Amino acid sequence: MELRSSVYRRNGFLFLRSKALPGGSQYSRLEKDFVRAFAGELNYQIEVSSQFLIVSPRGSMKRMAAAERALGKLEKLPYFSSRAAGRFVIYILAPPMFQRYVRTVAGSSIQLSGLYVEKGMGHLIIRAARSWQKTLTHELTHAGYQHLALPVWLGEGLASYAEEPSRRRTRGSAAELTRRLMAMEKGPLDRFDLQIAGDLVASLARDSLLRAVISRFKKPVPGPEVRRLTAQIATLPFSSKWSG
Ligand SMILES: [Zn+2]
Repeated sequence: MELRSSVYRRNGFLFLRSKALPGGSQYSRLEKDFVRAFAGELNYQIEVSSQFLIVSPRGSMKRMAAAERALGKLEKLPYFSSRAAGRFVIYILAPPMFQRYVRTVAGSSIQLSGLYVEKGMGHLIIRAARSWQKTLTHELTHAGYQHLALPVWLGEGLASYAEEPSRRRTRGSAAELTRRLMAMEKGPLDRFDLQIAGDLVASLARDSLLRAVISRFKKPVPGPEVRRLTAQIATLPFSSKWSG
């Protein structure tokens, strides 16, 4: 497949058309060509392994080892799947470039340190900053649960929990944390809410309930009875195409 017919340009960035996705080796070749073109335009470097394609500012540190380590830890989470996402394509962008990208994809300049874009060829965008590894772990969690239809509180809770599972001390029981999340049902999930969602996931993990809870959200979109349980707390004013 011709790369030219599969990509489009927006605000100077290359994007892959979602309708143009081929299968197997063709996909893999297109993916490599796309990333090479993207990196070439930014004058960025590329690192490749069987599980990652990482694009980052030229001359910056090598990121592959840290990404492999993060993935190794995430694969211990129930139902996390690195295969569902294919190879993880990660762009680590310098802050001005990152802001421009977020505006392009999200249509606003909300404060983020990373995002996972499901549209077209799924990819992760990480701001090149001191905390980039934490952000990468967070966004990789979203990518690894793409095969399930998780409600927002659970997706964000897992991502928040994954950032530092061993250090997290939960404040309150699962029931109490659920009540607190329910109480916030109307508002957007800000950092404070993410903390509670993360605590809830940690509390479920401690009680060995996490696997059972996640298993309820298989695609296609859950039925009405499951939705009723979660719809109230699954609110986030983000597009369904990406998660921050
Ligand atoms: Zn998130």
